Amino acid sequence: GRLKAGLLKTRRGITEKIDGVLKSYRKIDEELFEDLEEVLIMADIGVDTSLKIIENVKDKVRERKITEVDDIKGLIKEEMKSILKGGENSKLDFSKSPSIVLVVGVNGAGKTTTIGKLSSRLKNEGKKVLIAAGDTFRAAAIEQLQEWSNRSGVDIIAHSEGADPAAVIFDGIQSAKAKGIDVLICDTAGRLHNKVNLMNELNKIFRIVEREFPEAKKEVLLVVDATTGQNAVQQAKVFKEACDITGIVLTKLDGTAKGGVVLAVQSEINVPVKLVGVGEKLEDLQDFDPDEFVDAIFE
Ligand code: GDP
Repeated sequence: GRLKAGLLKTRRGITEKIDGVLKSYRKIDEELFEDLEEVLIMADIGVDTSLKIIENVKDKVRERKITEVDDIKGLIKEEMKSILKGGENSKLDFSKSPSIVLVVGVNGAGKTTTIGKLSSRLKNEGKKVLIAAGDTFRAAAIEQLQEWSNRSGVDIIAHSEGADPAAVIFDGIQSAKAKGIDVLICDTAGRLHNKVNLMNELNKIFRIVEREFPEAKKEVLLVVDATTGQNAVQQAKVFKEACDITGIVLTKLDGTAKGGVVLAVQSEINVPVKLVGVGEKLEDLQDFDPDEFVDAIFE
């Protein structure tokens, strides 16, 4: 399906290279593992995570007394799935009403698009959705969300450019309560030029949510751009320090061979990847499923 199509470049970067290495060995030895490790690192899986995968594969080769080079691929798949399943409770769940989703991330990562796609999807599922355009630093972000709102018929709360983001979220909450909204989705500003600033801005918003909407189930989604590879991991670290993120959205997987970064994020940040973006269409924002993902890059 769309996931498989979107992961074409990543599949080439990982599976075809793994196949290439495996074909050039007739028996399992240390050099083979070193070559495989290099393939994984080059695929943006991250050095630590790549080492971990190979160490575990080696252990299994020993334990299971595996001698066939061809069996290694299955073991790598197994390890990847197990890393990706590390995060418990990783599915987005909007069964509780009201819910609030705070969407954080740097500009250009795909926040606006993700909010648009997610709000349309929830509306199609029959939920009452409201968007709060909390990224008031960019007029374009507000306009883009207004477009999504027009297109999909989802209500939106927006102030003008330069307004206080916390005031927009405050209004969003009051409106959500008055209208009996099921899911309030909030955009936030994505200027990462100054970590202290970012923390202060986000904390102000978080305090308002705690105070004004304690009954809502809270989800904090960090949106990162997969095409930035290891930078995405770095960003996730910074945001994790700034606020309690509950899930990660990795966008633009269709445009990159760096899809392995999903594994680096999951194992180094220890926050579950919940959604992946594999294109610009509505249906290209997909729930992340570890088995499906690994199968898609290996088949
Ligand atoms: P924001 O600044 O974080 O709000 O980012 P936007 O939502 O405006 O997205 C930045 C650009 O990335 C836009 O051109 C989007 O169409 C594009 N984009 C977002 N998600 C995806 C994705 O999953 N795949 C592709 N190919 N493009 C995406």
